[in-house]
Amino acid sequence: MQNIRLYTDGGYIERLLNEAVGADQAALEKILDKAENFYGLAHNEVAALLKMDDNGPWERVFNIAGKIKARIYGDRVVMFAPLYVSDYCVNNCAYCGFAEGRGVKRRKLTMDEIRAEVNILENMGHKRIALEAGEDPVNAPLSYILDALQAIYSVKGKSGGIRRVNVNIAATDTDSYRQLKAAGIGTYILFQETYHRPTYESVHGDGPKKDYVYHSTAFDRAMDGGLDDVGGGALFGLYDSDYEVIGLMLHSEYLEEKYGAGFHTISLPRIRKAEGRQTNWPHAVSDEKFLKLAAVVRLAVPYTGIIISTRETPEMRRRLISCGVSQLSGGSAVEVGGYSLREKNAKQFNVMDGRTPQDILLWLMDEGLVPSFCTACYRSGRTGDRFMALAKSGGIKNVCAPNALITLAEYASDYGSEQFRSKALALIDKKISGLDTEAEQKKLRETIERILSGERDLFV
Ligand code: SF4
Ligand code: SF4
Repeated sequence: MQNIRLYTDGGYIERLLNEAVGADQAALEKILDKAENFYGLAHNEVAALLKMDDNGPWERVFNIAGKIKARIYGDRVVMFAPLYVSDYCVNNCAYCGFAEGRGVKRRKLTMDEIRAEVNILENMGHKRIALEAGEDPVNAPLSYILDALQAIYSVKGKSGGIRRVNVNIAATDTDSYRQLKAAGIGTYILFQETYHRPTYESVHGDGPKKDYVYHSTAFDRAMDGGLDDVGGGALFGLYDSDYEVIGLMLHSEYLEEKYGAGFHTISLPRIRKAEGRQTNWPHAVSDEKFLKLAAVVRLAVPYTGIIISTRETPEMRRRLISCGVSQLSGGSAVEVGGYSLREKNAKQFNVMDGRTPQDILLWLMDEGLVPSFCTACYRSGRTGDRFMALAKSGGIKNVCAPNALITLAEYASDYGSEQFRSKALALIDKKISGLDTEAEQKKLRETIERILSGERDLFV
């Protein structure tokens, strides 16, 4: 295994990035030809692109990123929402809003409160959520998370409830991952935050999260525990962003080589200049650089979902989608009990993109995109290497596209205003007319008819 553990080898990453500066035009074009043919890129090729100066062929990078997104995933953009169940946490990360001065205010939701939150999310049309909790073995132990999962899946709304719960909780042991798998989670998400060990150790206070080795090997234990979809991420701005992208690429290559599937998703959050306890993050990433990073990641891992959150403004989200981002959160509340609080207080969303989910869907449709609430792969057992095999064969688009239209029809029927419904149905009709064969068109029209007549939870 050539790449084993190299994602933690800081000396290797620094050397690679130094040597990648100034690659000649012919070498860069060759890398881009490879990316354009959907082969993905090796981490050294990624380094060469990251180190291009402003005169490099960035326009081509952006075009290829958009082309890959269109060819592999079609027009769909998958929607999800976070659900914060507990902000008890024994860590004290320098970048975290939960960390400082929250001692007396920390809370966790009761199971009734979780069901209430899920009801609200369900009424927004969400089918896929990301459960978020701080690390606290006393106040929010694994048993609490397992109960929370059961509570979430028990809520049955208009069209059948939440269908996939991804989980973003602290690194843990193999047996705990096994229990999460048995509880029916989708993707296990854990951000490395930073791959750069000295920075990692300096921003992570004295809690258990400070253990770089334990944290950075969590996905091995998750895979050993049977979780075959794992999602990585880095908090861009803690350290040099090029370094973080190479860390992510090496980590994904490592997982692919050892377990047969690299990251299922990569999240791209970035830190705001004055976020957390520290008020100046010298590596904070500008908008232009962030777009470049997203596009290069799309070229490198064409089959990996790229996620951005409501941390980004609507305008940045638009630009990031054109660079290959494939999943968005919408209508998000980013505090424990936030959905119920918002209903009671009519509070504004405490995020950069504070539009309601329906406004976001309308906006996506105006952009010619299809918002999707699909969870079909997970529910048909297309996870891990089975998902990757379908993705790499190019077949994923043939399921993403119809499922996006089916779930949009479902959303429009159950939650859409009149204006929304007519817009969504017109878009669905247009997209079906664009399918290659009459047989495909007929089949999908029949499925949409079944949805409009009241059947639910259909997928291919
Ligand atoms: Fe915040 Fe998570 Fe760090 Fe806890 S572990 S302080 S919740 S970022
Ligand atoms: Fe995701 Fe699979 Fe649905 Fe496509 S078909 S949106 S990959 S769950």
